[in-house]
Amino acid sequence: MDTVIYKATEENIKKCAEIIKNGGLVAFPTETVYGLGANALISKSVKDIYAAKGRPSDNPLIVHIADKRTVFEIAKTVPPLALKFMEAFMPGPVTAVLPKKSIVPDVVTGGLDTVAIRMPQNEIARTLISLSGVPVCAPSANTSGKPSPTCAKHVYFDLNGKIPAILDGGDCTVGVESTVIDFTAGAPRLLRAGGMPVETIEKVIGPVTVVRNSKVALCPGMKYKHYSPDADVFMAVPGKDIKQRMADAFDKAESEGKKAVIIAMSELKDSFENRKVWDAGKDCESYAHNLFAFLRKADDEKYSVVICQGVEEKGMGASVYNRLIKAAGGKTI
Ligand code: AMP
Ligand code: MG
Repeated sequence: MDTVIYKATEENIKKCAEIIKNGGLVAFPTETVYGLGANALISKSVKDIYAAKGRPSDNPLIVHIADKRTVFEIAKTVPPLALKFMEAFMPGPVTAVLPKKSIVPDVVTGGLDTVAIRMPQNEIARTLISLSGVPVCAPSANTSGKPSPTCAKHVYFDLNGKIPAILDGGDCTVGVESTVIDFTAGAPRLLRAGGMPVETIEKVIGPVTVVRNSKVALCPGMKYKHYSPDADVFMAVPGKDIKQRMADAFDKAESEGKKAVIIAMSELKDSFENRKVWDAGKDCESYAHNLFAFLRKADDEKYSVVICQGVEEKGMGASVYNRLIKAAGGKTI
């Protein structure tokens, strides 16, 4: 199968919406990362997503909608706090987990009786979903286990030949996946840190249960290897000697004949003399925006060791930390 990259013109969005409606797969831009979309109501199409990504079948997909009213067509109940959450944050980089109606095929939810729902902010995504006329289920449009794609080129690299179409809407603004909140088990619970800081959500809906450093997977996807480039990634734990630890790790790698690169935030980036450094930006929003692209660039440019500056787990820092520790497979310095 030839994979066509379509510029996101009105006509091409329409063409891609037809593909989805008729059961085909389309990768499309959202503000978080690129998604790989299919008609959520056709089980065969949903199965094709798992096959194209090589994704384990018990890792459920998020259902993307273009209109909040669709929530009531796919969720059995919507508790008052979930309504408040939807009012405040949808469209946006968030996902709500709710009890599902039977119209949602089991293959979408990995057999769970709950469904994850998201309404993207990105106009191209919303137009595509709206024109397709159906709920669109979509995981990130990468090969399972690899860093999520934040531009059309990343999607093409992973899925060329496996899907008919990629809708190119440029770079994703946020750069990490949505914040997932579960409303099905008593108090709202954070299942995945993401594009919307949990502190901002708590200002609107009150306390959200946050389990940090959990050894148990909170949501099905979390038990799998994630966000990993081929290069070996290390995360430097924040602390006063962080620069030294990063520099030492870099020197050790190079002394072993490995090509190494440091990913550091702007304030640290000049501390490493003539070592190779990529600037992640001045805050955790920029770090989130750049991280996946850097992890892919490391593979592209044949680096074998990537030393990343770790960050505190607050605000967007929580999302960056989560991606870093997974990309590193838990390896810290
Ligand atoms: P991604 O594959 O990157 O799009 O991630 C989707 C995330 O949403 C995964 O971590 C899933 O485990 C999570 N998710 C999707 N549906 C549900 C659900 N019904 N309950 C809990 N988590 C879910
Ligand atoms: Mg993913």
